[in-house]
Parts: sequence; C-alpha cells; structure tokens
Amino acid sequence: MARGRALHYDAGRLGAKGHAMTVGFIGLGKMGGAIARRLLRHRALQVFDLRADAVAAQAAAGATAAPSVAALAAACDTVMLCLPTSDDVRRVVIDAGLLANLPADGVIVDMTTGDPTATREMAAAVSKAGRHMIDAPVSGGPIGADSGTLAIMVGAPDALLARLAPIFAEISPNVFHAGQVGAGHTMKLVNNLTSAGNRLVAFEALALAAKNGLDPRRCVEIMQKSSGRSFMTEVIFPRFIFSGTLDQGFSLGLMLKDVTLATKLGADSATPLTIGNHTREVLQKAVTEDGADADLCTLIRHYEKAAGTKLV
Ligand code: NAD
Repeated sequence: MARGRALHYDAGRLGAKGHAMTVGFIGLGKMGGAIARRLLRHRALQVFDLRADAVAAQAAAGATAAPSVAALAAACDTVMLCLPTSDDVRRVVIDAGLLANLPADGVIVDMTTGDPTATREMAAAVSKAGRHMIDAPVSGGPIGADSGTLAIMVGAPDALLARLAPIFAEISPNVFHAGQVGAGHTMKLVNNLTSAGNRLVAFEALALAAKNGLDPRRCVEIMQKSSGRSFMTEVIFPRFIFSGTLDQGFSLGLMLKDVTLATKLGADSATPLTIGNHTREVLQKAVTEDGADADLCTLIRHYEKAAGTKLV
C-alpha cells in the first residue's frame, strides 16, 4: 500500500477484494457532516445522528435517513463514525446496537478523534464478535473535507485498509497507514498536540507584534514566507482571525479533549510533555470561561486581552 499517495481504486461499489459495500455514517456534525457530503458525491449512504436537523441536511443532499443505529447497522456492511469522543463511540457501538446488528464480517470505521486505548479495547470486543473495527481520524477540518484534502490516518491491518481504500479515496487522496488498530488515533493526538501548541505560540507572538506597532496582517504575510510559518499563518489567521469570523468549525471543548488525551498518553508512557501540559491548562481555562462550544479561534481574544491590544 502506497503511503500517502493517491489510491487508484475504481471508486465504484466494490472494495479492493470485491466486497459489496453498503455504507452507513453516524455522527453528522461539523466534521462528520462534511465527510458524509463528500461521500454522497460518489455513493449512496445511510445516515443517523441524534440531531434531527443534521440528519435532515444529509437527507436533502441525497442520503437515506435510518430510523435508528440498529436499523442502519442491519442495512450496511461498512459503518463510519465521527462522534465527539470514544465514550460516544462506545454508546453507539455497544449500547445502541451497532455491533449487535452489523452483519458478520462487517467493518466499523471510527473517524472520531478518539482514545487509542479505548479504541483497541472496543476493536478487540468487535473482533471477538466476528466483525472488524479500525480507526481513521482526520485532519483538515470541514473545509478540508469539502475540498477533498483531508489527511486520513488509518490504524488497521493491511487487508482492512485495502478493503476500505475505495471509500477513503472518495474522501481524499491523502490516506496514511499509521499502523495497527489504535495507531491512527495515537497519530491524530500527536498532530493535534503540535497544532494546539503552534496556535498558542502564534497567538501570543501576534499579540506581541500588534502591541509593538506591527500590522498583524503584514506580520503573518512575512511569517508565511519565513521560518515561523505554520497552519496558523497559512490558514487560521488569514481566513478566520483577520476576517473577524473567529469560526473555523472546531470547538474549544474538542481541542481540550484531544490535548487531554495526548497528555494522558504522555503520563501513561512516562513521556514529559511540558508544552503539551501547559497547552492543556490554557485550553481548560478558556473552556471554563467561554464554554466548550466556543470556537477554537476565539482563543485569540484571551491573548489580546492579556496584552491589552487588538489584532482586528
Ligand atoms: P460536532 O459536535 O459538530 O458533531 C458531533 C455529532 O455527533 C453531532 O451531530 C451529535 O449529535 C452526534 N452524536 C453525538 N453522540 C451521538 C450518538 N450517541 N449517536 C448519534 N449521533 C451522536 O463535532 P465535530 O466537530 O463534527 O467533531 C467530531 C469528531 O471529529 C470529534 O472527535 C473531533 O475531535 C473530530 N474532528 C473535528 C474536526 C473539526 O474541525 N470540527 C477536525 C478533525 C477532527
């Protein structure tokens, strides 16, 4: 399997080994909803979410609304999940009857940013029941899903990655095999720990720039061509901070969850994460003050306030 290169499968209804694929999608929020819309360009989808408005939006785009998790599972051989946390995944897989109703040899693809330990435990239970569970979290946000540029980080045996490759290829060519089950989730935590730390230092540095008389837009433009460049200078400042929307479609609460999982992994594996733990504390304070649903970009207000300056 090529790592990270375009996967050239016939994007039809068959997996790599000729499996007929009837696909379901559960968790149609900002990220899952955008991925489901992308898949609907290529194939039929059964969908389910606790929120009726999220289901209605997908049905309007051509999906079939399933009445329950159990009904969706019974009608599909492949079920993608994009839920807030691994606890939500467990509720769907075990409590709501996904595993109990999925046909034998069916596969659950967990695109949630989840807890690798919980994922490995669930995958073992799923495997014992004669089904499969793999992890395939994504990076790039709803915009990346819409434009087909997400990174998909897969934790799976080779055979299951090959089986799912046609579906992943419909979402994005940037499919990476991170390792066995749980490795996708571990990789995603490593990525988000980096991304969150980059955000904090970039926000702090831009507050310093504004306070000292630099034009923040010009500053980001220069950094984007200098060694300080990152996803923050390339995307976040130009699109979501300077536009004043402060709405990238990713909540403070979900990033706190990701960085908390990363620092937990650090503690469990005796890996010091000095910047990571600091980042977690900053995010926790922001969630306490602004609420878990506030967008991650609103964090810039804390840095502006601390420095007594304004970026926009
Ligand atoms: P969201 O809150 O917008 O959506 C979550 C959806 O899951 C909601 O529609 C909710 O109703 C549904 N849901 C929750 N519990 C359910 C259940 N038991 N049964 C059925 N539906 C249920 O969150 P999001 O931003 O879409 O994030 C989803 C996952 O993707 C998270 O793990 C997040 O960390 C990850 N992620 C998000 C982004 C982003 O930019 N938003 C980027 C990469 C990864």
